[in-house]
Amino acid sequence: MAAVGFVADGISADSFPAGATLHLLTHFHSDHLAGLKPEGAPIVCSTLTARLLIGIGRVSAARLRPLDPGQQMVLGPDGAALFSGEASVTLTSFDANHCPGAVMFLLEEHNRRVVITGDFRLDDTVRRVASRLAGADVLYLDATYRGTGLRFPPQEEAVARVVEICRAAPAGVTLGVYTIGKNRVLRAAHDALGQPFYVPRDRYRVYEILGDAPDRVTADREATPHSAYGVGYLERYFKPRGETVVVPTGWAAWRSRRRPWIHYVPYSEHCDEAELDEFLDLTRPRRVVEIR
Ligand SMILES: [Zn+2]
Repeated sequence: MAAVGFVADGISADSFPAGATLHLLTHFHSDHLAGLKPEGAPIVCSTLTARLLIGIGRVSAARLRPLDPGQQMVLGPDGAALFSGEASVTLTSFDANHCPGAVMFLLEEHNRRVVITGDFRLDDTVRRVASRLAGADVLYLDATYRGTGLRFPPQEEAVARVVEICRAAPAGVTLGVYTIGKNRVLRAAHDALGQPFYVPRDRYRVYEILGDAPDRVTADREATPHSAYGVGYLERYFKPRGETVVVPTGWAAWRSRRRPWIHYVPYSEHCDEAELDEFLDLTRPRRVVEIR
């Protein structure tokens, strides 16, 4: 579970507990949405996450307070009437280099600074904002790969490997994806193949919101030899009939031995251990709370 819980008086992050007067949501992945109901306290998130919440999560637009990377919002007595605390709170949003719409938050009270990274992958954009996040009193850290010893190549390298496999494929390509995420891989694979990926109808709506439909994906199975499915489905149930199966995942090194018919590529939208250490070196928080 990736729920963070309360990060300040009345304010929760990536969780929707009773008693919160405001929710911060870093991105639209299900493990960050537990407890979300259509009605409730206002939610601060990126514009794209807001569109997903409206389109898929059935949350009313009136409840959403979009805050995109680089933007700032002041809550409390001097700011937007969202928050009933006694002193004002300043929220700033930063690009998290995770799935589409994912952001980090910096929350500043008069004597306290809190960083909520949400899920993120270190890249030059995140390195650049690290100085703004430095010296926080508490930093809630995405520690998905902490303790695994795994190392990931840069994302560009992993994407280039997927493109190479696509170009060499003798027939259709079947790609393992998340409903939201790995979109960079799908876009590069589409550019290489020149034809869309079939996706099941229930996922098509998400791709419409993300801007990948109708060009990069189709809900018409007969229209293309290529397809994209959830990784769990591919690993457990998919029986390839001549397709080249590619799964981009941070767990590639652990999974590839068990299913030799899948091309696992170590593409991760989370930090590896070395990147986590580098991020903590750059931000030097007083206290770290690891979130898995
Ligand atoms: Zn995530």
